[in-house]
Amino acid sequence: MKIDHIGIATERASAAAIWQHLLGAEEVHSEDVPDQGVRVTMLPIGESRVELLEPLSADSPVGRFLEKRGPGIHHLAIRVENIREILERLRAKGVRLIDETPRLGAGGCLVAFIHPSAANGVLLELVEHQQ
Ligand code: ZN
Repeated sequence: MKIDHIGIATERASAAAIWQHLLGAEEVHSEDVPDQGVRVTMLPIGESRVELLEPLSADSPVGRFLEKRGPGIHHLAIRVENIREILERLRAKGVRLIDETPRLGAGGCLVAFIHPSAANGVLLELVEHQQ
């Protein structure tokens, strides 16, 4: 396991320019993930990434997060080899999951969220990269 990315809620995709400037990131990839109601912009930092999340609508999860808490760190994403196996193990331990089964995330990855109440108030995302 390792840290795949850190998700940051932002009101505008133009935040990417700020982060590019801060990190010197050259390759930037953006895509809409309608299932999660967000436009995602990924900025690579070594083996990890910063993921900027801009809500596609005010009533999306990130839209509600921004309204309540303003821009800032939204979640921490851990890269795993076998997301289904890990979800199964966590479920058996009684961990509160947001996603019982993986769904398709940005970049064609399989993702699943673990409820913040299970991880000291931190929203955790599991990410399995597909070949
Ligand atoms: Zn993420």
